[in-house]
Amino acid sequence: MAMGHLIDGKIVDRANDGGIDVLDPSTGDGFARLPRGTKADVDAAVAAARKAFEGEWGAKSALERGRILIRLSALVMDNFDELVSLESRDTGKPLKQARADITAAARYFEYYGTAADKLHGETIPYTPGMTVMALRVPHGVTGHIIPWNYPAQIYGRSIGGALAAGNACVVKPAEDACLTPLRMSELALEAGLPAGALNIVCGLGMEAGAALASHPGINHISFTGSPQTGTSVAQAAAVNHVPVTLELGGKSPQVIFADADLDEALPVVVNAIVQNAGQTCAAGSRVLIEKSIYDDVVARLAERFASLKTGDGAKDLDCGPIISAKQLARVNSLVDAALADGARVVARAQLDEQAPSGGFYYPPMLLDGAAPESRLAQDEVFGPVLAAFPFEDEADAIRLANATPYGLTAAVWTRDGGRQMRCANAIESGQVFINNYGAGGGIELPFGGMKRSGYGREKAFEGMISFTTIKTVVLKHG
Ligand code: NAD
Repeated sequence: MAMGHLIDGKIVDRANDGGIDVLDPSTGDGFARLPRGTKADVDAAVAAARKAFEGEWGAKSALERGRILIRLSALVMDNFDELVSLESRDTGKPLKQARADITAAARYFEYYGTAADKLHGETIPYTPGMTVMALRVPHGVTGHIIPWNYPAQIYGRSIGGALAAGNACVVKPAEDACLTPLRMSELALEAGLPAGALNIVCGLGMEAGAALASHPGINHISFTGSPQTGTSVAQAAAVNHVPVTLELGGKSPQVIFADADLDEALPVVVNAIVQNAGQTCAAGSRVLIEKSIYDDVVARLAERFASLKTGDGAKDLDCGPIISAKQLARVNSLVDAALADGARVVARAQLDEQAPSGGFYYPPMLLDGAAPESRLAQDEVFGPVLAAFPFEDEADAIRLANATPYGLTAAVWTRDGGRQMRCANAIESGQVFINNYGAGGGIELPFGGMKRSGYGREKAFEGMISFTTIKTVVLKHG
């Protein structure tokens, strides 16, 4: 595959012109080079997108747009093995996680491909002799700033919904991992997407990312990443009065009551933090346990943590490496601060003895005794670190569940039907799972945050609606 920007249907390969090294997190070794996009590249991509929106792409029917996305979905599955190994090598994910991610990307294109011609507006009863139509129209040119934790999935959900709704896209993927978005963009051309409908500019956040967020030619921005960068993106977009969708991560609680089915709950609770080495916006990073079963549950979780293996993504163990040395240092510093403050390590997973010494490994860890107001309990660690906290009763559980600035996802484990719904109503969270949990799961489920986790919704039909606006037409016909 070519390592380059995709602008106006052409791969622009400038990787050797002061580019960015692509590292394999499992070994720490470089294996490719990406171009480092500039403001001029972003200008060219936005101009190409505008031309496509006002030209060949904008003239396509919803049915035609949908068919191109369905062909792209099939091409992703035809190239499945190549995309899986690319995703695993680029991010360090165990192969089973990469397989799930590429399958999900294909499913996003299928979902939005089949949804494109079901998106419609409304008519509004108004004055006799008049017909009022609320038309659902695309924004125009949409910007997409993508993180490194799920490059294939987040690319799929973001451009899938935007293209289905008729927008032309400019994507700035993450500098730490973006090879599958680049490869899938080549496949999109093969699927028949006209030149300029989808453009990609690789590069650094402060350069290509900032140029996209502040570009006056963009009509909507979708951003997934850290709250700090989300603020910068929203501020830059505000100068041009451009609407933004922000998905900024979480501090998701797993609330376990004494009447829960623990055999069912505990494997899910462990997976919710170990999945993707904890680098998941919806990672279940806090486990809140009713006091009467606290010691028992912590002991059972400890057994599971101690049995997990961490190593090279290609070895397909329970947990892969962290994405980068910088991110590993951040996880270490948050945990070290919590330990210095009185938290205790209850259990730690093992590091595979063959794990390459240059890889960025952090074997999953179970902690307790952290203060609920500590950074470990309040901030996104974005590593495989689970912190346990006891609670007294239902009111205390809800108080603790809501006691962070975030509100992305939550799980409640209880057999009590009344409590299930009371908790679902009281927990401030974009998604609440009862007796199950899918970290970020569910292409068909509206997804997005409350509080500091952001605003706007992605995934599902709702996600496609986010890439449209309403135009009201008032027709007087007598
Ligand atoms: P980040 O938010 O800085 O990066 C996300 C994306 O934004 C990347 O494509 C990056 O290039 C781009 N970007 C960075 N600065 C920008 C700017 N000024 N203008 C426009 N775009 C810009 O995230 P990070 O530095 O890679 O990770 C830091 C923390 O963010 C992590 O520890 C984690 O807590 C959180 N994070 C959350 C998610 C999520 O899914 N919610 C994903 C990645 C990281």
